[in-house]
Amino acid sequence: MDEQPRQPPSAAPARRPFRVLVTGGAGFIGSHLCRRLLAQGHEVLAVDNFYSSARSNVLDLLGEPRFELIRHDVTFPLYVETDQIYHLACPASPVFYQRDPVQTTKTCVHGSINMLGLAKRLGARILLTSTSEVYGDPVVHPQSESYWGNVNPIGIRSCYDEGKRCAETLFFDYYRQHRLPIKVARIFNTYGPNMLPNDGRVVSSFIVQALAGEPLTVYGDGTQTRSFCYIDDMVDGLIALMNSAPEVTGPINLGNPAEFTMLELARKVLAITGGHSPIEYRPLPSDDPARRRPDISRAVEVLGWKPAVELDDGLRPTVEYFRRHLAG
Ligand code: UDP
Repeated sequence: MDEQPRQPPSAAPARRPFRVLVTGGAGFIGSHLCRRLLAQGHEVLAVDNFYSSARSNVLDLLGEPRFELIRHDVTFPLYVETDQIYHLACPASPVFYQRDPVQTTKTCVHGSINMLGLAKRLGARILLTSTSEVYGDPVVHPQSESYWGNVNPIGIRSCYDEGKRCAETLFFDYYRQHRLPIKVARIFNTYGPNMLPNDGRVVSSFIVQALAGEPLTVYGDGTQTRSFCYIDDMVDGLIALMNSAPEVTGPINLGNPAEFTMLELARKVLAITGGHSPIEYRPLPSDDPARRRPDISRAVEVLGWKPAVELDDGLRPTVEYFRRHLAG
């Protein structure tokens, strides 16, 4: 069949269905995003180097004619045709991003340059999944997008924090210098099925420990807080941002503002798993933010988006996922 000529997305909203590139498409958030985009009728090209992701996350999609998976590292250029780019690729859990910190910075910086170059050549819309880590250990609470953050430039989290801050800089310079249609999302802690059991994140770690009857490892005194967003809500937010009006660039916080201490989370996980594991206190890693909660008023106002899934309701399917995953 002949291809129809395509409208450049920068000129007008692209017609549906789109061809969509998802970097990090086999990762935790990427795999859910690919599934949702396919369900919406789009063609999806997932790119992943499987550094902190799993083919099994998208195994069921491989027979789908509108889905394609390429093994590729975004620190190298990529030449494909696409209408929209969701640029997710980057190890995102502290355990993974600190394992090879130089590569993490390269992924943030070179990866963004490569994807921005691709978007520029195609005139494609490009969305960066940045992070609440750009706020560092925040002295402003909750964090709104106007806050510039409190980031250690030379610490063990800096490869990711500063890497993502530089990625944001690149996105906004391509926007100002080349009029590229960009979108920047700042993602706060997100959880759900398809997280890796060994990624060291607090939700996956507590669940895996509780299911195995092992002690729950609480770092520090467990009074530090995080705000946890269920994956389905996050995917809704990302798609809403990508398809927002051209003048909406972000940055826009995406996350669930309900805030919990790590001890509260541990108690919830034990209640939902029915586990009786004790709490084991471990030293707090350096630069671990004491508090984190998104101010999402901009997302509510501009995107009409807010999360719908409460922590207990999201933890249940996540626990079920790990129960199945660990049994199989
Ligand atoms: N944490 C914990 N026990 C764990 C893993 C993490 O108490 O086994 C704490 C960690 O110190 C941090 C919070 O949980 O304060 C969230 O950690 P995570 O690695 O999930 O994400 P972060 O928000 O730090 O990037």
